[in-house]
Amino acid sequence: MPSVADLIDDAALRSLADPETYARGKELAGRVRMSAFGPHRAAATVESGGEPPSVELTVTPGGLAWTCSAGDASPALVCPHVIAVALDTRRRASGRRP
Ligand SMILES: [Zn+2]
Repeated sequence: MPSVADLIDDAALRSLADPETYARGKELAGRVRMSAFGPHRAAATVESGGEPPSVELTVTPGGLAWTCSAGDASPALVCPHVIAVALDTRRRASGRRP
C-alpha cells in the first residue's frame, strides 16, 4: 500500500483545483500544524484566520482521500486547505528520505 506522501503529486493536485485555489493552498502551506503524521493518514489544521479548518488525508483502496472541516472540499475537488496540508506532507516526507 502506498503512503499518503506517495500519492501526492503536484500535477494531480493542480488538476483537482483551479489556479487560484492552488495558489492560495501554496500560500497556506507554511501555516500547517500537523497533528498526526503517519504513512497512511495525515491530519492537520491550517491557520487561515478565524477557526482553523482541520484537514485529513488518508490512503484508501481507490487512492488518496481528503476531508476538510471548512466544508469547501469534495471527493472530486480539493480546497486550499487540502492543498496546503498535501504540500506540507510531501515536504516532510521528502525531508525524511533525502
Ligand atoms: Zn478547506
